[in-house]
Amino acid sequence: MGDAKAVTDLVISLYRNVPAMRSGVCRICRTGPNNRRDTGEPFDICSSCDRTMGEHLYRPTKHVVPISLAVRDGDDNELYKVVARKEAVRASTSWLKPENLMAATVARFYEAHETCLTGLARGPFTLVTSVPSTRLGRPIRAFHILPQIIGMVSALKDRHKPLLVANDKYARVLAKRDSHRDSFQVMGAQNGEQVLRGERVLLLDDLFVSGAHVQSAASALFEQGAEEVVALVILRLIVPSPWHDNRVDIWQEASAQPFNFDRCCLCDPAGG
Ligand SMILES: [Zn+2]
Ligand SMILES: [Zn+2]
Repeated sequence: MGDAKAVTDLVISLYRNVPAMRSGVCRICRTGPNNRRDTGEPFDICSSCDRTMGEHLYRPTKHVVPISLAVRDGDDNELYKVVARKEAVRASTSWLKPENLMAATVARFYEAHETCLTGLARGPFTLVTSVPSTRLGRPIRAFHILPQIIGMVSALKDRHKPLLVANDKYARVLAKRDSHRDSFQVMGAQNGEQVLRGERVLLLDDLFVSGAHVQSAASALFEQGAEEVVALVILRLIVPSPWHDNRVDIWQEASAQPFNFDRCCLCDPAGG
């Protein structure tokens, strides 16, 4: 695939550090939760995680690891355009294809933080899979890009197995940013025996907006007996609207520091 460090260094200014766990950071997805009306203290988890980890699932995952934050709008949305819209990005004198940049991002991050991720899984991953794209109105080539990306990451490709298929009946539920245990199904699953018993699954997604896709996919894996599911997401979208203090703080902090692949939201308790 080429040198992941060289590729990502070309566009290093586009990434934004994901904060470590602290008060004012959602302990699941690392965006900013609202503050409680009574005490003014932040909730532990944000309102979208609260919704997408809820009642319609068999079981959500508590382990979500975003590589970078991103915004959708404004001058600062270059990485969002690559990852969400699958646009090429200008890198010094040439253009980088989205799949190449996404694969290099995952490869470099995984190499640096494999122990952070396997620590959450309480052991090495036995399977690597991706969330099928069901997002309405997204480019058609988005549909197969994640399996292609896993295939480009040498540390992951040998454990890659396409496991999940989307259930069309629930596409509109996901589009409304709600999760559901039946949104995805594990291929080859029959009534009765669980086909993922004892497996520790690394679940890759490109973009985390509400968690509806990741949590629905994780739920389907758990329902088939997966022992642990760790979601690795390339971008966590953040909407730093002025009336969301904690999100504004996270985004300002992320924009003020240079991005560093040597830290992640798990291994940088200082947050700096
Ligand atoms: Zn959250
Ligand atoms: Zn780490």
